[in-house]
Amino acid sequence: MRKNLIMGSNLVILIAGLLLLGCASAPPSLTYREQLDIYKDMKIRLYQVARPIKIAGVGVCENTAIDKGKSYHSLHDYPEKLRPVAESYWGLSEKLKLLFEKQSSNISNCQAPLILDYDKAPNAYTDGESIFVTPALLNKVDDLALSLIIAHELAHIVLNHVDKEQSEELEREADRFALFMLAIAELDYRKATLQDAASKPPHKNGQKYLDTSKREIYFREVVAEIDKLKEEGKALVP
Ligand SMILES: [Zn+2]
Repeated sequence: MRKNLIMGSNLVILIAGLLLLGCASAPPSLTYREQLDIYKDMKIRLYQVARPIKIAGVGVCENTAIDKGKSYHSLHDYPEKLRPVAESYWGLSEKLKLLFEKQSSNISNCQAPLILDYDKAPNAYTDGESIFVTPALLNKVDDLALSLIIAHELAHIVLNHVDKEQSEELEREADRFALFMLAIAELDYRKATLQDAASKPPHKNGQKYLDTSKREIYFREVVAEIDKLKEEGKALVP
């Protein structure tokens, strides 16, 4: 009787084990913890790439804040289905917790939080306060191309484009401003316009407003303008 009971409980454990194995091998192929680590690294990358641009924009930004070289995260930064795992894995809650500390510098920078949007399409946009970037876009571009995209979004904030209707003119203004921001940040603004940059508009519907060949020509014009200002030792004012 006793033996049967033990065998019975072993059978339950065996079935439970098989069920768990079944769950673990089911798609998605990455575990929830692996997915969380990827999103965490993306947040850190966004912060690092955006930082020099946001510092470069200080002279033109309406809202500035002191950047203490730290980035924070909370449960809200992750997809809903991953939040219970983030809670047990990192002890994350609704409160902000230190994600990453780069340096203890107190540099003024443009206030525009970078937020991951988990939409599946490659896309970047702004609501006038924050800058949203999707993981699909992050996977498509290197850091320099990402700088141009973040600077383009920051331009939409600084130039108060958000309440206006999207147009080719506004997209050009944002591109121009973005290249100036890269130059002020001492990033390679010329290189940022190469590598098919013109064919990679930041927004999902960007191709509608940013014709690739026209954008290439425009990029060259702005690069030449910045080169000239630098040669003449003049201030880089977009
Ligand atoms: Zn735009």
